[in-house]
Amino acid sequence: MKGISSEIGAGGQPMQRFLREFILTTFKDKKLGGIGLSNLDDSADFGEYVITIDGHTVQPIFFPGGDIGRLAICGTINDLSVMGAEPVAVASSLIIQTGFPEENLRTILESMSKALEEVGASLLCGDTKVVDDPIDIYVTTAGIGRYNQHLEKNLGVVRSYREYPYNFIGDNTLLPGEKIIVTGTIGDHGISLMSLRENLGFETSLRSDVNPLWPVVKSALRVGGVTAMKDVTRGGLSMVLNELAAKSGVNIHIYEEKIPVRREVRAATEMLGLNIYEIACEGKAVIGVLEPFAKQVVRAIRGTKYGGEAEIIGEVVETSGEGHVILKTRVGGETLLDPPMGDPVPRVC
Ligand code: MG
Repeated sequence: MKGISSEIGAGGQPMQRFLREFILTTFKDKKLGGIGLSNLDDSADFGEYVITIDGHTVQPIFFPGGDIGRLAICGTINDLSVMGAEPVAVASSLIIQTGFPEENLRTILESMSKALEEVGASLLCGDTKVVDDPIDIYVTTAGIGRYNQHLEKNLGVVRSYREYPYNFIGDNTLLPGEKIIVTGTIGDHGISLMSLRENLGFETSLRSDVNPLWPVVKSALRVGGVTAMKDVTRGGLSMVLNELAAKSGVNIHIYEEKIPVRREVRAATEMLGLNIYEIACEGKAVIGVLEPFAKQVVRAIRGTKYGGEAEIIGEVVETSGEGHVILKTRVGGETLLDPPMGDPVPRVC
């Protein structure tokens, strides 16, 4: 009998195939709003709300810049935020190994509480199980976000230029001519974990970017013109761009020299032979914006705590419907940025 391979949990092409072959063939998409199960978006909407859920199994559970508690809250908050939804409530399931130090649990819970406070969301309910399996701790978080005045303003701006099919922000909604923004440096999370695991010595200067994206997203929505959004997680920038392009049926041009990458992150990827575009982030989003608003949106994002290095990195071009991402290199060449098989660094979230 065929077993489940670790690749399907790595956020790349095999996971997409798994979702189509197992999930979408088993469950009917009884849409309650515009974006449902079969959209495979960051969240799904029902009435004035969106819902999402994420399991977190990161190793090690404490890392430079955060821990599994902050990661669990931010991961969920970010999937709500990139729908344009204001994060309001989280439910959490803790699965803890017998003998896990109480002090560590307290630290993780405090990280969760602090991350929730940053965006004004609350923990509404939860569940705790203790097992003998050697897992340390797994944290699963479900979240609910709601329609808000910033999203309403944004949709008003977008609809004065083009049609828009949803009441929240989708990821299959890019049109030619729109600009692509990344909200900051890429690869920080994956490389800081890898560096810690492999003792590369970057731990002192390199930290995970695990942060809640709602303030960044809110600043963009306030300007208006946002047409599509996804947070960059497993599979990195490449996965997100490829999903946006394929789902929207457009091609995207990306300019290598515009993509913000920290010096230490670039050095580490070169040392390890990793593709920087496939490394996980935990506090960055890719945003599609109407061209006339792109510069103003970047300025607004740069004014927020976690958006200081936002850049316009590319644009949506006229399409053959193939969903290609084309990287324009520094030296003037072109290469196809293929969707990754998964994240090359395992258990990053
Ligand atoms: Mg997401």
